Amino acid sequence: MLMHVLAKLDHRYVWHPFTQMRDWLRHEPPVIVSGRGAVLRDANGREYLDANSSIWTNLHGHNNSKINAAIQRQLRKIAHSSALGLANEPASLLAEKLVAAASPPLGRNGMLLSPKARTAARRPSLNKVFFSDDGSTALEVALKLAYEFTRRTRDTDSVSARKKASAPKFLSLEGAYHGDTVGAVALGHIDLFHQSYSGLLFRTDKVMSPYCYRCPFNRAKPERADARKYRKCNWECIGKIEEKFSAQTKKGNPYAAFVFEPLIQGAAGMIPQPAGWLKRAAEIAHSHGALLIADEVMTGFGRAGVLNSELRTPNSEFLFACQHEGVQPDFLCVAKGMTGGYLPMAATLTTQKIFDAFLGEYAEFKTFFHGHSYTANQLGAAAALASLEILQSAEPIRARARLQKHLHDELQPLWSLPNVGDVRQVGLIAGVELVKNWRTRQAFDLRERAGIRVCEAMAKCGVLTRPVGNVIALMPPYCVTPAQLKKIVSALRDGIAATLGS
Ligand code: PMP
Repeated sequence: MLMHVLAKLDHRYVWHPFTQMRDWLRHEPPVIVSGRGAVLRDANGREYLDANSSIWTNLHGHNNSKINAAIQRQLRKIAHSSALGLANEPASLLAEKLVAAASPPLGRNGMLLSPKARTAARRPSLNKVFFSDDGSTALEVALKLAYEFTRRTRDTDSVSARKKASAPKFLSLEGAYHGDTVGAVALGHIDLFHQSYSGLLFRTDKVMSPYCYRCPFNRAKPERADARKYRKCNWECIGKIEEKFSAQTKKGNPYAAFVFEPLIQGAAGMIPQPAGWLKRAAEIAHSHGALLIADEVMTGFGRAGVLNSELRTPNSEFLFACQHEGVQPDFLCVAKGMTGGYLPMAATLTTQKIFDAFLGEYAEFKTFFHGHSYTANQLGAAAALASLEILQSAEPIRARARLQKHLHDELQPLWSLPNVGDVRQVGLIAGVELVKNWRTRQAFDLRERAGIRVCEAMAKCGVLTRPVGNVIALMPPYCVTPAQLKKIVSALRDGIAATLGS
């Protein structure tokens, strides 16, 4: 068949992200021309299920009537005016709603969390919103604010303290990915992506992340269950965090901030944290005076699901992963799903205390000198308001709980495949780790392209997703039907069998 004219144009002119373009130019790519619900349709009329919600952004499906209508209503008024010197209607309304959604994690009846967690929750609330464009820029904002806040507020009485305070240090997790702008790259620890830019970056430290399946401290033999459930360890990963913070504090320059993805790391390989890890890690960071920067670019807006204890009668309004463990960060970075996956818009929420450190007379130049042309864009804000309204209404909350359960049930048969090492799920996020042999956990060399090949086979069956190394991510839009979900998981199963021979 002749290549579609749009595919030819793409091949001629477009350079794709995170893509080896030599491979790309060998095949005709699907050119997406429309979408509805969980389905994408290409220029040749072929349909695909969007099994990773268009790289983790889309929440309610494509062409959602409520979000479409909200954007159209806003379009009739204005598409964009600058946030420099001007406020605007949807951004003001959205900021109020985001602050309310991020407020302390109490259940409706105030009983969902333990008393200890509730005490932790009573930290200063996140009541200031700085808008930006995407996940990377949301992290850049947090990074710069934390850096400058630390410099301005640290005790600088002695000369050596003054010197140390000028270089606040950051700690993030092994395998971390926080975006592709230079500051966000510096917070990341994926050598494959980040090493080539090392000359451009400032140094940050990393600490062990709780990757139970491949944890050197986990003495359990592999089983056919999520590694978090049968691990045999003494929380050495938490010990490592304590060690790291103590060592840095001893140097007289305690970490300014601890940056983490709560409950599950995405691009690191869909690495879920065992229950209680987040709360413990946050407590250690606090006890050393570090600010908490929660990157909820992937986990935010309901992706982390509802509490397991609540699956039967969900009443939770938790939209953020941190809330599941009663952790209140000093910075909450959100993007991807914020507009329901419609428009590039992000936000960094922070506290009054951080905000106040930037107040002063004009001539003191304490201003936060940072911003973008499209900051607080009206179309994005209108889409985000509509998305939040859907997220917070009763039936969609129940539907997410049902989907979480369906996803769990559908994934179970994958355990019978010898090339499936781990199947892990946090809410509406699933990762399936491919291995050579589940009994030994032997990994595929990245050059074998196991994950890529499985995803190519899935695409042939009409299911689109992308691997994270050897881990296949499944994260369908919340509107996916049970039949569509079944099709997604069976495409994965058949793809593994056809490609890796199991
Ligand atoms: N943080 C996390 C946790 C992410 O998953 C991503 C993107 N995958 C980013 C930050 C960067 O977001 P963006 O691509 O929108 O800049």
